[in-house]
Amino acid sequence: MEASEEGKSKKKAGASRLCCLCNQRRPVLKRPKTLQQICKECFYEVFEEEIHQVIVKNHLFKSGERVAIGASGGKDSTVLAYVLSELNRRHSYGLDLFLLSIDEGITGYRDDSLETVKRNELQYGLPLKILSYEDLYGWTMDDIVKMIGLKNNCTFCGVFRRQALDRGGALLKVDKLVTGHNADDIAETVLLNILRGDIARLSRCTSITTGEDGPIPRCKPFKYTYEKEIVMYAYFKKLDYFSTECIYSPNAYRGFAREFIKDLERLRPRAILDIIESGEDFRIATSTKMPEQGTCERCGYISSQKWCKACVLLDGLNRGLPKMGIGRARGGVNGDNKDTRKPASAAKSIESKKCGSLDF
Ligand code: SF4
Repeated sequence: MEASEEGKSKKKAGASRLCCLCNQRRPVLKRPKTLQQICKECFYEVFEEEIHQVIVKNHLFKSGERVAIGASGGKDSTVLAYVLSELNRRHSYGLDLFLLSIDEGITGYRDDSLETVKRNELQYGLPLKILSYEDLYGWTMDDIVKMIGLKNNCTFCGVFRRQALDRGGALLKVDKLVTGHNADDIAETVLLNILRGDIARLSRCTSITTGEDGPIPRCKPFKYTYEKEIVMYAYFKKLDYFSTECIYSPNAYRGFAREFIKDLERLRPRAILDIIESGEDFRIATSTKMPEQGTCERCGYISSQKWCKACVLLDGLNRGLPKMGIGRARGGVNGDNKDTRKPASAAKSIESKKCGSLDF
């Protein structure tokens, strides 16, 4: 080989070992979303900048707003709290940020993860509010599981958590609530709603902001952020988060959908974004009957039935009839179970992957 050619090929091999974004530093990771080999600094930059762009393009916040971050101590909400407080400072969003946690009363799981959130409160300087199921409903998840077993526990937990977050948000007087739902979660929910024929949820599960007609709108700044990148970001930044799964986590059905999406992602990283885009492009026929929003006669929370789901479930627990309000049970207080699909799918839709908090 000629000396100059040898020099060129050495240079080429050396160049391929540089970050493909800055072309200066050595790459330390392959970006799951794009498969680019990049350095840590460029990864932080593209990761944070993409979230900033999502926030700006979707007008998620207005200056002066009070925003609660639903914080479980897990990787998604920990990264969300960290990144949002960074972006708030860097881009002068003018937001008052809070951490809002719900203590479901799960010994050996939530008590430990809440310790992480308490440390995050100090690390990020964000005020923390914790509300417990026991205080709100008089039941812990440990008690509920003792009564009903491990079959529908996530239905109770998800319904109660949704309302508990709203109640916590009201106590903190926030204008918005943000959650750490990521792109994988949303793609998974699109798929599940198609599999279940749940048109009402399909139509709104890809919305970046939901509940604008309810007490506190909810936003998902990680709508386009891949789970793998969140894990990498937390790892490289050495963020303090809790990674154990809930001891009551079941649900094979959602697990299959999740595995299916992971398989697709392995073959084609864009698959996650494509599923989300497909979900966004669905149009509901005008002849499809959608649930009408009203308020619960008992607690005043938003509901499309006489009583909201939380009140129905709570009433069942207190009367020793926990199956009341689950799935297709008939003759409950809402007593209008001619269309049994709606309550059934609503209950199923909040079942878990690793946790059943994925209600959109
Ligand atoms: Fe609650 Fe999630 Fe545990 Fe289910 S998996 S019981 S929804 S914390």
